[in-house]
Amino acid sequence: SHTAAIIDGKAIAEIIRAELQAEVAQLKEQFNGYTPHLAIIQVGEREDSSLYVRMKEQAALKANIKITIQRLPATTSQATILDAVQALNDDTTVHGILVQLPLPAHLDEKSITEAIDFRKDVDGFHSANVGQLAKRDTHPAFVPCTPKGIIELLKRTNVEIAGKRAVVVGRSNIVGMPVSHLLQDLDATVTVCHSKTTNLEEIVRSADILIAAVGRPNLIQGSWLKPGVVVIDVGTNAVPDASKKSGIRWVGDVDFDAALPVASAITPVPGGVGPMTVAMLMHNTVESAKRYLKGFKEP
Ligand code: NDP
Repeated sequence: SHTAAIIDGKAIAEIIRAELQAEVAQLKEQFNGYTPHLAIIQVGEREDSSLYVRMKEQAALKANIKITIQRLPATTSQATILDAVQALNDDTTVHGILVQLPLPAHLDEKSITEAIDFRKDVDGFHSANVGQLAKRDTHPAFVPCTPKGIIELLKRTNVEIAGKRAVVVGRSNIVGMPVSHLLQDLDATVTVCHSKTTNLEEIVRSADILIAAVGRPNLIQGSWLKPGVVVIDVGTNAVPDASKKSGIRWVGDVDFDAALPVASAITPVPGGVGPMTVAMLMHNTVESAKRYLKGFKEP
């Protein structure tokens, strides 16, 4: 009987990292040691944020990208963070700036995001980049990493996008909205669903390509899927599991086992979209470094 191909995000991310490593080596050799440089600011010590920052650090080291991490106390003032961002904007050896989100509640995330020079905004959250992504016939300096990783997964597994029906479940600024713009730009016909969507099952059933970015374990059932659909499951949900030492296990937004006999391809959780997000951050950093080398021109 039929079973969906598993889209191995971990393996694809490894390939991308190897490609980047080769590119970085070539840049260094050709341009007198010139090295892509990513700067991260982490405020406070949230456990999940610390884990993400460590993953980014590991990925940078493996690709020979220079990484500088500023770890600031949770009580740091807005003015101090804005000064730190400004210093990185002015530092000509830095090509990418990332402020790890979420920030402690006393800080204004929006004005900090907007303070980053959009030409170094490797997360793609600055409104100049968000706007360029949403506008027809323009291109942002950076595409946000998770949506960029999703498109890369589709491309590297030879999924046809043009003319297909894509359904995106979730409309967040970091996943749902930007991925819907990217799919539209690649000539898919895109429907975006959210918590107020009334006929979710029926809309999901129309999808040739389904992007699930909600954050609710197994929200989307196997019986909702059109045979042959390509499923990209962004959801990363911890559910209790007494058989694991940690007491939890990770599942996506789509019922994976029920989707296997129906879908043509599906990403696992973990090991699907997650590793791609970090790889795309490295990709954005290298792209930025190459652009600075050429003399950045406004898009
Ligand atoms: P948000 O919480 O910001 O957004 C969730 C979206 O889902 C919202 O648009 C919300 O609608 C919608 N939604 C909530 N409930 C339903 C429902 N019952 N039916 C349909 N839509 C619903 O989440 P994120 O976009 O930040 O993240 C989504 C998931 O992806 C999470 O599990 C997160 O952990 C994971 N993630 C994984 C990443 C990776 O690299 N692997 C990166 C980023 C996120 P409304 O707008 O109406 O509230």
